[in-house]
Amino acid sequence: MGYSAWQIIREGLTGNRGWKPVWRDPAPKSEYDIVIIGGGGHGLSTAHYLAREHGLTNVAVLEKGYIGGGNVGRNTTIVRANYFLPGNSEFYSHSLKLWEGLEQDLNYNVMMSQRGIINLFHSDGQRDAFARRGNAMINQGDDAELLDPAAVRRLLPILNFDNPRFPIYGGLLHRRGGTARHDAVAWGFARSADRQGVDLIQNCEVTGIDIENGRVTGVQTTRGAIRAKKVGIVVAGRSGQVAAMAGMRLPIESHVLQAFVTEGLKPCIDHVISFGMGHFYISQSDKGGLVFGGDLDFYASYAQRGNLPMAEHVMEAAMTLMPMIGKAKLLRSWGGIMDMTPDGSPIIDKTGIDGLYLDCGWCYGGFKAVPASGFAFAHLIAQDRPHDTAARFRLDRFRTGAGLMDEEGTGAQHNLH
Ligand SMILES: Cc1cc2nc3c(=O)[nH]c(=O)nc-3n(C[C@H](O)[C@H](O)[C@H](O)COP(=O)(O)OP(=O)(O)OC[C@H]3O[C@@H](n4cnc5c(N)ncnc54)[C@H](O)[C@@H]3O)c2cc1C
Repeated sequence: MGYSAWQIIREGLTGNRGWKPVWRDPAPKSEYDIVIIGGGGHGLSTAHYLAREHGLTNVAVLEKGYIGGGNVGRNTTIVRANYFLPGNSEFYSHSLKLWEGLEQDLNYNVMMSQRGIINLFHSDGQRDAFARRGNAMINQGDDAELLDPAAVRRLLPILNFDNPRFPIYGGLLHRRGGTARHDAVAWGFARSADRQGVDLIQNCEVTGIDIENGRVTGVQTTRGAIRAKKVGIVVAGRSGQVAAMAGMRLPIESHVLQAFVTEGLKPCIDHVISFGMGHFYISQSDKGGLVFGGDLDFYASYAQRGNLPMAEHVMEAAMTLMPMIGKAKLLRSWGGIMDMTPDGSPIIDKTGIDGLYLDCGWCYGGFKAVPASGFAFAHLIAQDRPHDTAARFRLDRFRTGAGLMDEEGTGAQHNLH
């Protein structure tokens, strides 16, 4: 069923009895052309673009839990194209353009809100680094403005400007950045893939990958064996475990990232604010909650929840930047499993096994990548060659060392992210 203003009025007047389930609940077939493992944002957008761009619809997405239960429904919803390094910047620039047309493309309200992102800086060195980043963004065709302290104060009067621990020297404003509603993104892609004929199979865990003579032939699942000519692994924090089913050891560590939300408040933060010096960022949701987070918990884990020391660290950073937050009540906190690569950049590539493809390594920034990752991964699976925007996301860069993209400037060590 298509969504429109007319549909809402009609359903409102007739007791909302006409709405249909948003996607089917099919039983798995014994064979597909393509099986996508993982029904998160990236798996669902891959399925959407396989159908939309390449006409491939004999496709199943296998999800061990429910659609939207992974990181795609756990992130803090920030969407941006403020990357610095070649390889990343063209990819995220493409992703933001896809975001800007996504609601029309999916016929689904993903609550895209381009409210602007401000990265604060607190030293001359940081200002120079952000000026360089801004120039790289403009050269890529995206927007960036360097703000002086007075301009930051006009836009963000709630911050602590009077004798703070880290004086605010200014900010880099990226106006086209912002937020989108995370689970609506999952539901919108799921609905679109389903409507185009893709089978979305929930409660179906992949437990093995079948390989014969160096070629993938299908998967074993908790709902039986499924044959497939091509298989894509898109399981975020579980990438290492699923790749191990095909005998692969990935350059990935899984770490927990936490997030927090306060009770609903009247509008007080109009932008997304990033406070790198304190490992802290914040925005305000449409319901009024202040949504914020910090850094990884710094130990490898598959638990979807974090620990108190990091919660304390994030609260301290929040109080340093904006003491007014001390009056708000914290409502909830949660965690998700991040698939961390050593250089902080993702992998979209073929594997050494024919017909087996890999999309992973999104670290703590894969939500904004959902459209472009699906677009590029669908292109790779359909055409057996990388899409131009993702050509540098190669798996072998970690073996050869050539082509590493150290976007975070932390070196090739997971625990320094
Ligand atoms: C607290 C937090 C805040 C974040 N904030 C941001 C942000 O503001 N901006 C941003 O860009 N990114 C952010 N991220 C990162 C982003 O959420 C992830 O990088 C991205 O969602 C990962 O891709 P995904 O959506 O496909 O993952 P997921 O939704 O985790 O999808 C993977 C799916 O694979 C399934 N799966 C795993 N193993 C199997 C199996 N064996 N068989 C079948 N299915 C399987 C899982 O159940 C899961 O549903 C944040 C993450 C967290 C946790």
